[in-house]
Amino acid sequence: MAEIPLISVEEAEKIIAALPVTVEREPVPLLAAQNRILAQDITAPFALPEFDKSAMDGYAYISEDRSPAYRVIETIAAGSPPRLAVAPGQCAKIMTGAMLPAGADRVVRRECTREANGSMQITAEDRNRNVRKKGEDLQAGELALEKGSALQAAQIALLASLGLAEVPVARPPRIGILTTGSELAEPGTALGPGQIYNSNSYSLAAQVCALGAEPLLLGSIADNAEETAEAIASSLQKCEILILSGGVSAGDFDYVPAAMKRTGFTLHFEKIAVQPGMPTVFGSCGDKAAFGLPGNPVSTFVIFEVFIKPLLLRLLGHDPRPRLQPAVLAAAFQRSRAERTLFVPVMVTAGRAEIVSYHGSAHLHALSQANALLYIPAGQLSISAESTVNVRFI
Ligand code: AMP
Ligand code: MG
Repeated sequence: MAEIPLISVEEAEKIIAALPVTVEREPVPLLAAQNRILAQDITAPFALPEFDKSAMDGYAYISEDRSPAYRVIETIAAGSPPRLAVAPGQCAKIMTGAMLPAGADRVVRRECTREANGSMQITAEDRNRNVRKKGEDLQAGELALEKGSALQAAQIALLASLGLAEVPVARPPRIGILTTGSELAEPGTALGPGQIYNSNSYSLAAQVCALGAEPLLLGSIADNAEETAEAIASSLQKCEILILSGGVSAGDFDYVPAAMKRTGFTLHFEKIAVQPGMPTVFGSCGDKAAFGLPGNPVSTFVIFEVFIKPLLLRLLGHDPRPRLQPAVLAAAFQRSRAERTLFVPVMVTAGRAEIVSYHGSAHLHALSQANALLYIPAGQLSISAESTVNVRFI
């Protein structure tokens, strides 16, 4: 059997990054926009604030006017425009958010005043102008939210304040998840001898969901060449990207790479110098792409984080951003071989990374105690305590 070429993490990343993607967009009502990605720049259709307005409950007057008392010419509520202009010796009683009357350019807080018989006196200094100027937050035509922004409460509030009832967002790509393995049983059913519970469908679905993409659980198939090829072919109709777990290594019952080829896939790589997850397969077939991930649960998880997540983010219209962040390694690290780039589960607290007790690629409990993966590049054998390392939050 011909040796499968081993490529570096960076080469694999480049190959995946070269896959052309189209971001599909759809309009959604504002309330349905949470966790979605904005598919177009939004410019302010008008200025914010819309007009000069009071930032306090108080009295609007002319800032240069040092009269001992000011005649109150009207009361302006938020939502009702002023009727009169303020002249020297005059003021208008004004509520927070109400339109500033012509002539006035300052508001004295109610707490700094006394009003009696239609006349207001300033009793204490108010250092603030208490006026929100038209357009001081956003000018008409200014960029309000950039394409690719994640929409959460604050962004949704901004869009509402701009009067938008509907927003253009990226349509979530459908990500098919197909697990292989004759040993797999579903949580909630009884385990037979030699069986284990399928955890990869669930971790992958959760990872896909967390990005705002749509997971499609396409079931679990036994280790069988025919069935694997058939399942891949029928799954492809239903999704843009297909993720398979299991069946990619050198075992007697590992059929995924051959089944991908049989269904028309071109395989771009079948082996990455990474630990965990070395036998990862990536292929494309027309406008569809598929990943075959090694079944060990930590491998499946890590390969998704490192290689699949950036692709899904692109499909969702996010700008690709560097995912590695610096942290200080709490204790020294050593390994005996350094051919592969290594990802180790770590807990990062206040910028310090502690490696969790970790037995290898099946150790889900270790992963559940971690909030990041420590990135150790190929070629690096040891890291001393207190040195700066790169981590990738999960
Ligand atoms: P494979 O990649 O098929 O050789 O599987 C490697 C290891 O991962 C084996 O111990 C499998 O039992 C386990 N495994 C495979 N698929 C899953 C899955 N969906 N959930 C949990 N463990 C799995
Ligand atoms: Mg298997």
